[in-house]
Amino acid sequence: MRAVTFQAPNEVRVKDVPEPVLLDAGDAIVRIEATGVCGSDLHIYHGRVKIEPGFIIGHEYVGSVLAVGDAVHDVAVGDRVLGCFQTACGHCFFCRRGLFHKCDSSRTFGHGAALGSLQGTQAEQALVPSADLVLRRVPEGMSDEMALFAGDVAGTGYHAVVDSGFHPGDTVAVLGLGPVGLCAVQAARACGAAHVVAVDTVPERLAMAESFGAQAVHLEQGDPRAAVREATAGRGVDLCIDAVGHPSALDLAVRLTRKCATVQSVGVYAERVELHMGLVWIKALRLCTGHANVLAHVDPVLAMMSAGLLDPTPLVTHHMSLDEAPEAYALYDRREALKILLRP
Ligand SMILES: [Zn+2]
Ligand SMILES: [Zn+2]
Repeated sequence: MRAVTFQAPNEVRVKDVPEPVLLDAGDAIVRIEATGVCGSDLHIYHGRVKIEPGFIIGHEYVGSVLAVGDAVHDVAVGDRVLGCFQTACGHCFFCRRGLFHKCDSSRTFGHGAALGSLQGTQAEQALVPSADLVLRRVPEGMSDEMALFAGDVAGTGYHAVVDSGFHPGDTVAVLGLGPVGLCAVQAARACGAAHVVAVDTVPERLAMAESFGAQAVHLEQGDPRAAVREATAGRGVDLCIDAVGHPSALDLAVRLTRKCATVQSVGVYAERVELHMGLVWIKALRLCTGHANVLAHVDPVLAMMSAGLLDPTPLVTHHMSLDEAPEAYALYDRREALKILLRP
């Protein structure tokens, strides 16, 4: 089968590789019909996240079930399914508390040996362990463009809101309007945010946030602190979501957030960061971090998509074939696309 493999920094190649086979009774094999290119794939592409040359990348996918092991009960051969970007065992200390994202034996698709040696989904077929936990049937009538988001980006945007002690009527600021930030804007509105201030520097992304119901503020040409003061009677927002993963975004988040409120960092951090702890302390802020518990959120996110409350499909800017993956990665690297779907 054909698959997109990492070769070296700034080089991916579509190669012929062996088809996957069932290895465990809980496995399924999915024929991939659409697979996304994600910001985390770009970290691999740049060589910042290290994986073995030749490893298949990708972790966002929709397809149909080709085979299941004896212990799989919730999906069957022929079902149209979407999947989450990581797996979980379902019975360790963390899974029993619903913290699937911190499962002791979790594996992430397409991230090499460091995250469980699970081949990625930018391929004609993918092996899916713990299929009952990881896969869901696509609700009747839902498009690939919509369903694909439930297992990663929309689940992360939803997590950024609901994992933060959010209440309907709260004010929210979202820093960084990539796909996750834009999904967080939509989730905040859908969950009942009274006002959302959305901050970025790219005009198209600000316009999309506005179309999702946010007040768009340009980071440099506008004044995010003044906008938040005005929207909150000078207090600061009840929740600030950092969807950037950069010290300057974290610093701004601490300043935009009111006393006793929450900063939620879903943007990726991998290194030491200087934080004004005096400000965090005197404001008594809560700091939430980490990647999203998408396995726990996939059902409500799908329900909200079915109900029309969440619709990330405007984020899909490019449709390309799997064989065009090298061009797709170059294009995404130039920030000329929000979400690219590859079809085998
Ligand atoms: Zn992703
Ligand atoms: Zn577990």
